[in-house]
Amino acid sequence: MTKKWIQPGQTIGILGGGQLGRMMALSAREMGYGVAVLEPAPNSPCGQVADVQVEAGYNDLEGAARLAELCDVLTYEFENIHADTAAFLEKEMYLPQGSRLLTITQDRMLEKKTIASFNIPVVPYAEVSSRDDLTAAVHKLGLPAVLKTTRGGYDGKGQRVIRHQRELDVAWREMQGYGPFVLEAWLAFDKEISVIVARSVHGETAVFPVAENIHCNNILHQTIVPARIDQQTEAEAIRLAVRLAESLQLVGTLAVEMFVASDRIYVNELAPRPHNSGHYTINACETSQFEQHLRAICGWPLGGTALLTPAVMVNILGEHLPKVLTHIRELKGAHLHLYGKAEAKAGRKMGHVTVIAGSAAEALEEIAASPIWNE
Ligand code: ADP
Ligand code: MG
Repeated sequence: MTKKWIQPGQTIGILGGGQLGRMMALSAREMGYGVAVLEPAPNSPCGQVADVQVEAGYNDLEGAARLAELCDVLTYEFENIHADTAAFLEKEMYLPQGSRLLTITQDRMLEKKTIASFNIPVVPYAEVSSRDDLTAAVHKLGLPAVLKTTRGGYDGKGQRVIRHQRELDVAWREMQGYGPFVLEAWLAFDKEISVIVARSVHGETAVFPVAENIHCNNILHQTIVPARIDQQTEAEAIRLAVRLAESLQLVGTLAVEMFVASDRIYVNELAPRPHNSGHYTINACETSQFEQHLRAICGWPLGGTALLTPAVMVNILGEHLPKVLTHIRELKGAHLHLYGKAEAKAGRKMGHVTVIAGSAAEALEEIAASPIWNE
């Protein structure tokens, strides 16, 4: 791959028009780049802040070619771009992130096998393509366990927790047709954390501070930084993330979700892009994850990742939005980010708030005292 220097003034093409693309585009604009986005839905979160939106599907090769014509470098903000489209773009255009990592992270099974091949712990799992496989997998792993589709799942969608033998038939009937699957042992973890690592076209690596994540209904609710973990766990989490970045020959940003259990850290899943749990970096770190991503793919030296202040990020879902709009002014140290989505559906990520304070505990107290996230 040629390692081009993409100079400010040139244009960055983003595949996917959601909030990650929007925040990437805002950073790109700050740095003086032009922005074009490929997204079928008109007036998308990213389209609103880009110079141009090419309205075509993610897997429409002709649309992708039209985007590429307008741009000097391409990147993606979401991993369900068809591997064929990414391979085409990698071959015909300039997509420094490449298509290999996309292919790996699109498939939970391949992702787990790849992580395990680097001798990095993953939760015990088994492949399931038939009802008989499910019986065998449950026999091997025990219950509770969680059945996950290998493709297309996010925010807990495409997952079914199985607690008792008697649920097997119902679970299989519910999930049938969405396979193949991976069955994972249910891990009674202490904490969920994530580490965002960036690696540039020149092979330079930088890691953001470890984030502690609290999920509600399988959707990320809060990210707390610094994570409330001991130093040894912190060092190990960073070491694993860097090892993954190097083993995968990452270019761009990789988010590594991990479970901290009493015995060790397990890697849960990877996202080959900026991540919801890294939004705190915008207000709390020397460089944001979005700027870092652009630096990595455009050939800049990477930016510093120091944490400038403790922070807690809280997601704003559709059901939270009215209260946020009423009460946000009362929340001290709050930085509001809204994504420009027209319809505030329940469960939909409409924006986030990052509260900065003298300590994560203080930020958490402020949030707990606010009526926004309380019934
Ligand atoms: P998604 O693609 O939806 O983020 P994940 O595999 O990260 O899928 O699962 C979503 C959440 O479900 C995790 O963040 C975690 O809270 C919980 N979870 C998933 N797998 C397990 C497991 N094996 N043991 C315990 N909790 C799990
Ligand atoms: Mg996840």
